[in-house]
This record gives sequence, structure tokens and C-alpha cells, in this order.
Amino acid sequence: MEPFLTCDSQAILVEDKSFQAAKCDQCGAKMYPQSLLQPHLTRHQRRQRLLMRELRKLRHTFTHMRDIA
Ligand SMILES: [Zn+2]
Repeated sequence: MEPFLTCDSQAILVEDKSFQAAKCDQCGAKMYPQSLLQPHLTRHQRRQRLLMRELRKLRHTFTHMRDIA
């Protein structure tokens, strides 16, 4: 990298970063602005918890069915 360009490219880099969208690790969705990522992740967690509860219910049903049979 040429020294006289360093300052400029760094400024661009910082600017790029501030406009960069945050990427969700769970579904790969891009959030912009980045502050949207937190509520998005919270929604993921809530959905996951709901899913786990449904799975537990389902497992309970299966266990019960096996008991009957
Ligand atoms: Zn996501």
C-alpha cells in the first residue's frame, strides 16, 4: 500500500464499516442498520424456545403413545 494513500483508504474503510449491514449467524439475513440485528436475534431465540417447547410436547405425546401401545 502506498503511504500517501493510506489516510484516504482508511477513511473509506471506516465509512464502509459504518454502512455495513450486520449479518445474522442463524439465518444469514443481512440487517441494516446493525442495531436491527439484536431484536432479530431475540426473535430467533424466542422462536427456538417455542420450537423446543413444541418438541418436548411432541416427545411427551410419543412417549405416551408408546405407553398405551
Ligand atoms: Zn436471522
